[in-house]
Amino acid sequence: MSDCLFCGIVDGSVPSTKVADTGSSYAFRDLNPVAPVHVLVIPRAHVASLNDLANAEVVAHMHALAVQVAKAEGIDQRGFRTVINTNDDGGQTVFHLHMHVLGGRRMSWPPG
Ligand code: AMP
Ligand code: ZN
Repeated sequence: MSDCLFCGIVDGSVPSTKVADTGSSYAFRDLNPVAPVHVLVIPRAHVASLNDLANAEVVAHMHALAVQVAKAEGIDQRGFRTVINTNDDGGQTVFHLHMHVLGGRRMSWPPG
């Protein structure tokens, strides 16, 4: 999608700090990290939100890459959190599906 920020990150027209890359998913550092490790995992193909997901394998691939990132960042054993925000109440601000990978500090529950 031409007016989508994260499609711009996928095609390189918007700069990002790459963490990992697979054929179908891309991982990069969040611009405004809320934890010592804050990486976003996105599908290369545009999907606006979980509500628009046609193929559940897309999320399976994203989760597999999230675990790969957690291991590479050294947070897999202490623990980490994966989050997908959906629409307004969920706190979604960028409408290209993305999974937050958060770690390096203790997470609280319930989330805010
Ligand atoms: P969400 O609120 O779940 O939609 O998350 C969007 C995330 O994208 C936020 O954590 C932002 O800090 C992050 N973000 C926005 N623009 C960029 C960008 N150009 N590069 C990296 N992260 C970004
Ligand atoms: Zn997009």
